[in-house]
Amino acid sequence: MNDIENKLSGIIDELPDLPEKAGLWSGRILTIVGYIEMTQRGIFKSTVGDKSNHQVVDKQDINGTVRAELRGIKILTKIRDGLLMDLRDIYDQDTFKNKENGLDERTKRQLSFVKSCRKSENLCGNCVVCVSLGSLSPGRFARRSRWFLPDMFSVEHANDCVAGYLDFDQAGVLNTVDSPSRGGMSSRSSSSFATYEFVKPGTRFPFKLMIRDPSKYDFFASIKALNEVGQVDGVGAYSSRNGRFKMQLTAVSNESPLNIATNIDLAEDFDLLNTPDRLFPPNATVVQFSFDENEDLLAYVYQKYDELLMGADWIEFLDKKTPKGEETE
Ligand SMILES: [Zn+2]
Repeated sequence: MNDIENKLSGIIDELPDLPEKAGLWSGRILTIVGYIEMTQRGIFKSTVGDKSNHQVVDKQDINGTVRAELRGIKILTKIRDGLLMDLRDIYDQDTFKNKENGLDERTKRQLSFVKSCRKSENLCGNCVVCVSLGSLSPGRFARRSRWFLPDMFSVEHANDCVAGYLDFDQAGVLNTVDSPSRGGMSSRSSSSFATYEFVKPGTRFPFKLMIRDPSKYDFFASIKALNEVGQVDGVGAYSSRNGRFKMQLTAVSNESPLNIATNIDLAEDFDLLNTPDRLFPPNATVVQFSFDENEDLLAYVYQKYDELLMGADWIEFLDKKTPKGEETE
């Protein structure tokens, strides 16, 4: 048993391997605290369907200080993709396929539905990702997410961490794809250049990820996925070349944080992350991680996540009953 495993055993050992499908609230919670630090510029805007060429970073004026805002949902949406891909890798393995061949027709049908689980347009409602991150298929099933990642705010003030630029190259592209006839003269002039705002590399966003009715899967998968979004996928708009970050974990607890420990508090007083005991009630078990321990922690999480994915009986998990009103067929 290594140091990391030892430190975490008081919190992790008591958790079931996989999440419960029945929606009974056990009262159990797991909180993961840390911060993300941008390694690339991030374009964080929430405006949907905005036709303008001027994109601004979401900002909030908090107690007289303007901070950049990063919506938690942007990250959770990305996380789902990665976790579903990991499951599909398992389904593709020979040992799994052999097992599948021996199943009765009904289970095979159910399984093929689960295997086709895709984000937003085609959620199965029955795989471990749907059970963790929630799933909605109007008129058929609705399952709430058990993971909560509240919106985050930059430690650095917007004056320091948000920049913008004028993009004349992009203007050329926009001029060719925009139809000048639709808006007459005005559309032509509005698309003659584009401005973009972004948060600078180095900007830090403290976060708390809370997991209701946690399992070992939730713990390992959430950390692995957060790390991967940061290193591989990126977050925000144009994330094929923007939005990457490094994640730093500072504490894990088996309780909800106190009300005084909002993401705003953490942005205003970043040092709170160094004293995580102050963020939780006195009865909480709080495991703190130093900056130096993070690499070991990630290695441990990745190893355990792989072991869990390979070792779990996904057919049995599929067969488990879903709560009333959440049936998948
Ligand atoms: Zn699913």
